[in-house]
Amino acid sequence: MKRVGIIGGGQLAWMMADGAKKLGVELIVQTPSQHDPAVNIAQETVFALVDDAKATEILAEKCDVITFENEFVNLEALSVLENQGVCFRPRLAALAPLLDKYHQRCYLQALGLPVPHFFAVDESLIEQPTELQSKIAHLSFPQKNPIVLKSRRHGYDGQGTFIIKDGDSLQQKLTSSSSHYLIEEFVPFERELAVIAARSVDGEVVTYPVVETQQEQQVCRRVIAPAEITANLAAEIDVIARTLLNNLEVVGLFGIELFLTPDGRVLVNEIAPRTHNSGHFSLDACETSQFEQHLRAVCGLPLGAPTLKTPTAVMVNLLGYETSQSDYQSQRQQIAAIAQSYIHWYGKTESRPGRKLGHVTVLLDTLNRDQAQAIARTIESIWYPS
Ligand code: ADP
Repeated sequence: MKRVGIIGGGQLAWMMADGAKKLGVELIVQTPSQHDPAVNIAQETVFALVDDAKATEILAEKCDVITFENEFVNLEALSVLENQGVCFRPRLAALAPLLDKYHQRCYLQALGLPVPHFFAVDESLIEQPTELQSKIAHLSFPQKNPIVLKSRRHGYDGQGTFIIKDGDSLQQKLTSSSSHYLIEEFVPFERELAVIAARSVDGEVVTYPVVETQQEQQVCRRVIAPAEITANLAAEIDVIARTLLNNLEVVGLFGIELFLTPDGRVLVNEIAPRTHNSGHFSLDACETSQFEQHLRAVCGLPLGAPTLKTPTAVMVNLLGYETSQSDYQSQRQQIAAIAQSYIHWYGKTESRPGRKLGHVTVLLDTLNRDQAQAIARTIESIWYPS
């Protein structure tokens, strides 16, 4: 497998460049805009939206295998191509239960994996407030907690996830849009964790060290690797990752987001069927980055070691905080001056509030979460205007 087609041309595809070079693989990208980050590193680009299956047919003619950096595709249309012999990795059946958050929760539950309590909001339920309230009442204890309303499809970076504190806001949200939703209990988590796992063509599974992720307004801000957790908990998470990837017969790499509850239980929040923000630290901190690992898996190569090369790594997202065309040279230079820092700038031409413009990873010579937190604060004080 020498020519890999990637559906999606954002930063996740862009960060595959080094791995591709190392493995001698060519990347051909399907993405709508010439300003998308991966256009600069791709051998060739098919300019089209990611859900344009006609464009994917053209992409398929140029590639040995097709993979995803964006899962918001039209599976039904792509399955025609798969039936004609186009090689998708992961195969489409491995994505099918995951693209709708309600189906994803049902799938995980059927596998016996721990998830928050949830239910789907269908139209009839919206018209029956008493029934709806009764379902909500059964969700969680104590009931003073808010509930979480999620769009079933196309949610990312917290878009489509709403923490709802009262009945009026719920009714307003449900009636003001035609989206399909699920409702779940609010998990008063002690921490959020994540793990990256890859599975090869031969069925070998490799998992990365479990990390702590920190979200603000539902968007990932920082990742600390490794998470300060017990060996037992790490082993439990490892089993969750293996169970999932083996059952789906994944060939490729997934990100798995988890909640750690105050009483020490782990619940799966979400599966990303591709490389994930919680694994960006691996570019600079691990023997094999998640991006190289994903390419290894989809190209049928043996997987690489996921081992950390440093006792601690901290990754901080550089999120847009204004609408601007600045390239933030001065802030980037100050951040680059931090010892053992590696800055990755995605080259987007416009900054918008919340947009992921780049990230920085700093390696630490000791196992020290407090120091990692302090470094993250320093980076954020340079990056965000006070
Ligand atoms: P997205 O797919 O947009 O990333 P997620 O479902 O992962 O959305 O939610 C984003 C963030 O919102 C989570 O990382 C967490 O901080 C918060 N969140 C989501 N679901 C819950 C929940 N059930 N309880 C508490 N917080 C939640």
